[in-house]
Amino acid sequence: MSKAAGLAGLTIVVDPGHGGDVSWNGGATGVTGLQEKDVNLALGLSLRDALEKLGARVVMTRTTDAPAAFTGAPDEDPLEATTKITAASGADLFVSLHGNWWEDPSPEGIETYYYPGSQKGRAAATALANALAKATGLPTRGPLANDYHVLHHHEVPATLLEIGYLSNPDDEALLRTNAFRARVVAAVVAGIRDYFHR
Ligand SMILES: [Zn+2]
Repeated sequence: MSKAAGLAGLTIVVDPGHGGDVSWNGGATGVTGLQEKDVNLALGLSLRDALEKLGARVVMTRTTDAPAAFTGAPDEDPLEATTKITAASGADLFVSLHGNWWEDPSPEGIETYYYPGSQKGRAAATALANALAKATGLPTRGPLANDYHVLHHHEVPATLLEIGYLSNPDDEALLRTNAFRARVVAAVVAGIRDYFHR
């Protein structure tokens, strides 16, 4: 691997969406019961390991089945905690991992988001959409602009990834497999490297 393609000296925040009580902190439940928060965490931990191997410093918003916490206060808002963790990290990029859900089972595939007007966020969401489409073969829509809270309140370039629809039986089945998860993580790493070395 060429040194130029590494990530040494860069800090990346990895945000596995949701965590803890689903009724309070959200997260989709799949058609056969797969929990989005669990997929997000598994992907996030693998992504952390892969990015660290390339020399990046990785800051996780959570590493267990618990909401993101900054102060640790019992009534802390996980989205505000995510914002504070990211602001304190001095990160070069924020990547939020999610799974999608819709009322009917037909929507499938991947979406990548950035905050409207953020050129760097758009570049990251573009690189990630390209890498994810290539690696998974799933329908991939992005970059899409959206005023998500976790994107809005970040000084650092930010992107949010919706990896598959838990409401779609095929996507949910894929998301259960380690092989698909590994492909997704490799693609996210490739997209992040493309973003930094574009
Ligand atoms: Zn989510």
